Amino acid sequence: MIAIYPGSFDPITYGHIDIIERAASLVDKLIIVIMANDEKSGTFTFAERKQMIEHTTSHLSNVSVVVGEGLTAEFAQKMGARVMIRGIRAVSDYEYEMQLATANMTIAPDVETVFILAKPQYSFLSSSTAKTIARNNGKLDSFVDDYVAEKLMEKYRKGVEIY
Ligand code: ADP
Repeated sequence: MIAIYPGSFDPITYGHIDIIERAASLVDKLIIVIMANDEKSGTFTFAERKQMIEHTTSHLSNVSVVVGEGLTAEFAQKMGARVMIRGIRAVSDYEYEMQLATANMTIAPDVETVFILAKPQYSFLSSSTAKTIARNNGKLDSFVDDYVAEKLMEKYRKGVEIY
C-alpha cells in the first residue's frame, strides 16, 4: 500500500519525523509531499525543504520525497496512493484537519485520510516554533535534527528573514 504524507515542512521537525517513522512502518511505501501554493511564502525553498527531509529520513528505505502541485487529494491519486497521513497534535488541529479531510473525501473518495496522534513530547512542536527559536538565536536541539538546526542558523547568520 502506498501512502502520502503532505505538508509544508518549512522546515521538517522532530514531530514530523516521528509521524514519518510510524507511518512508514505501516505501509509499503510512504511518499512525503511538500505542498505549498506559493514558493515565496516560507523560509526555505522547496529544494531546501526536500534536501532536509531526505537527509533526516535517510534511515527509512521505503520513504521518498517529492514536491506536489495542485490539489493534495488529486495529487495522491496521481501517485497511486490510497492513504493520506496527517498528524494531530491537539484539539486545535482537529477542526482544521476535519475540514480538510471532509473536503478531500469529496474530491477523492478512494483516498482515505489516516490520522496519527503526536507523541506527547512533540504535541507542542511546529515548524513555526522552531523558526521563532532560530529567529532569537535559541537552542534548537530539542526541536529539529542537527542538520536542520544548522540550516536555520545559516539563515540567521546571513540575516535572512525567518518567518
Ligand atoms: P501544513 O501546513 O499542511 O499543516 P505542516 O508541515 O505544518 O504542514 O504539517 C504537516 C502535517 O504534520 C500536519 O498534519 C500537521 O498536523 C502534522 N504535524 C506537524 N507538526 C507535528 C508534530 N509536532 N507532531 C505531529 N504531527 C505534526
